[in-house]
Amino acid sequence: MLEDLIRGWDGEEIVVGFDEPSGTWMFVCIHSTRLGPAGGGTRMKSYAQPSDALQDAMNLSEAMTLKMAAAGIPFGGGKAVVAVPRPPEGDERRRILLRYADLAASLGETFHTGPDVNTSTADMDVIAERHAHVYCRSEENCGSGDPGPYTARGVFHGIRASVNHAFGSDRLDDRVVLVQGVGDVGRPLAEELATAGARVLLSDIDDERVGVLAARIGAEVVPPGDAIGLECDVYAPCALGGTVNAETIPELRCRVVAGSANNQLAEPEDSDRLRDAEILYAPDFVINAGGVLYAWGTESLGWDADTVETRLTGIGDTLAEIYTRADADGLGTHAAAEDLARSRSS
Ligand code: NAD
Repeated sequence: MLEDLIRGWDGEEIVVGFDEPSGTWMFVCIHSTRLGPAGGGTRMKSYAQPSDALQDAMNLSEAMTLKMAAAGIPFGGGKAVVAVPRPPEGDERRRILLRYADLAASLGETFHTGPDVNTSTADMDVIAERHAHVYCRSEENCGSGDPGPYTARGVFHGIRASVNHAFGSDRLDDRVVLVQGVGDVGRPLAEELATAGARVLLSDIDDERVGVLAARIGAEVVPPGDAIGLECDVYAPCALGGTVNAETIPELRCRVVAGSANNQLAEPEDSDRLRDAEILYAPDFVINAGGVLYAWGTESLGWDADTVETRLTGIGDTLAEIYTRADADGLGTHAAAEDLARSRSS
């Protein structure tokens, strides 16, 4: 199964590690270095089988190639998955991270990484002990810190541009926005939306986390199981991917899907299904590039705060261009975004 997946992939390189004491598989997938070193986060997660982890790393790596190209920065796409049987803590976590760091370091300049699902700035500090190209270390360790608020700011600009396209005005003060997942990205996004006057609905499997935030910003809480069929203007998936699929699309009661989650569509055809349902979809790899723009921009490209803000605002401009292109060419927005990314990388 692993061999079939590797042989069938159109990426450049895969390195595999296995940590016998913990039963942890590690996959670093380099999809493309055409525009520069492959950049992408390190995800830590449990999977039913190693091939699921490899498939995830391949998909995410390919999305990073598109993300870097659409964002217009000189990097290619890569991704790492550390597939743990259970979330490791303490000394065991450090040992696994160092072992993974040696694997990443074996790729040298080719692979630049940062945090992703279930990895933190503290984890990046550990990986940086062995690998030279690690972004978002803690500020005490001279890193750029948590990228979540910057991803959220990019999504906020993306929501504005999407609302403008769908409703003819980018005003948010009479819009209803459902934020699904109030973690590192969803929380600051919800705060910004509430400040802009939107009516914010929040959903999270962590009752305490969502309750505290809702009370603070005056939002309403929606049970996780009710999120998909909820009537709203914008559905912002900010938890895990795959929530937009053949089953859920007929249930959606929104005009716009625009959130931070990676790989929101279960399959490419879902972009056409959304178009047929007259739901505007903000391609994930475009709208969620804010964290990469911030971290890669400040740590590798020498950007100051004003340049970062300009580039985050530019996410809205890129989406507007994609929507115009999709309308003109009769394409789904995902396909139009892929075309734009390819045109920016050629
Ligand atoms: P996080 O782990 O900090 O937060 C995720 C939140 O989603 C948690 O509060 C969790 O309880 C909640 N959640 C999980 N399953 C849920 C469900 N079924 N329904 C509702 N809530 C659920 O993650 P994050 O850093 O905020 O990232 C969110 C998403 O955005 C992820 O898909 C991530 O890959 C993507 N993303 C994040 C960044 C970043 O800068 N952090 C950048 C690009 C993309």
